[in-house]
Amino acid sequence: MTHIIDGKALALSVRAQLSKEINTLKTRGITPGLAVVLVGQDPASQMYVKNKKLACSKTGIESFSYELSNDTTEDELYELVLKLNADSKIDGILVQLPLPSHLNEQRILTAISPEKDVDGFHPENLGKLLRGEPCMEACTPAGIIALIDSTGTDISGKNAVVVGRSNIVGKPVSIMLLSRHATVTICHSKTKDLPAKIKGADILVAALGKPEFIKGDWIKERSIVIDVGTNHTKDRGLIGDVEFKEASLHAAAITPVPGGVGPMTIAMLLKNTVKSAMKRR
Ligand code: NDP
Repeated sequence: MTHIIDGKALALSVRAQLSKEINTLKTRGITPGLAVVLVGQDPASQMYVKNKKLACSKTGIESFSYELSNDTTEDELYELVLKLNADSKIDGILVQLPLPSHLNEQRILTAISPEKDVDGFHPENLGKLLRGEPCMEACTPAGIIALIDSTGTDISGKNAVVVGRSNIVGKPVSIMLLSRHATVTICHSKTKDLPAKIKGADILVAALGKPEFIKGDWIKERSIVIDVGTNHTKDRGLIGDVEFKEASLHAAAITPVPGGVGPMTIAMLLKNTVKSAMKRR
């Protein structure tokens, strides 16, 4: 029987553990604080920010909201980030992406102090990840590893195939799998014969952002399938990058969309915020 990996339940257990740690911090007069910065009125970004703030309040983290208009200049945003870097109540800074096109994302993300970079996107944290040094790990990749671990699978020696090579998902998760001794193949839009690559995957991470692009009969028997894709469709709502029903016939374990990677991304954001609070204070 295929195991449906319950990302919601796993995220709740991570959050329950964090709540205990936060209660201990509070006895020392410390409340972890997360600054959430949103520029513009993109409905999907507004929803993500709302969910993150709600998760903070349920777990005991104080969130500080900065909702800026679409015509905010890059210098104004940059100055805000510097102000938050210097604010002792703030342990983590989250700048919701994507930013409006007139703002240089890399300049803003690099301005965030690496120790408050709870998204794990700062070049210093990405560099440390590459070198195998302790760092603030990117949330979605860290959530993916936790989901794989929850199945009891030993990653070492497995053939892992990652579809997608973005800086926020594909590349960091590939490095994390490599550091756990998987043999990693990274696929992208120029990859030849993707079905054959996927057929060899003991662990598949699908992060390409194309609804049900990965067909069920490409999936290796008894493999682990992590579907990162979040594709909003008119007729079927939110669906993943993998044909869920058909893939479930072959996989040993698979994440659903929604209810798989999404909740774990938020849980890892909270975890990074608490980690930063413990380290900084
Ligand atoms: P990007 O658009 O930045 O990257 C997509 C990657 O997929 C690129 O590397 C691209 O290749 C590759 N790709 C596109 N088409 C194909 C194809 N036909 N065959 C093979 N590879 C292909 O996306 P993100 O990494 O930001 O996000 C990926 C998905 O994950 C999206 O659906 C996003 O919404 C979702 N997501 C979900 C999160 C969650 O918490 N649940 C968090 C973050 C993302 P190339 O580089 O050659 O262009």
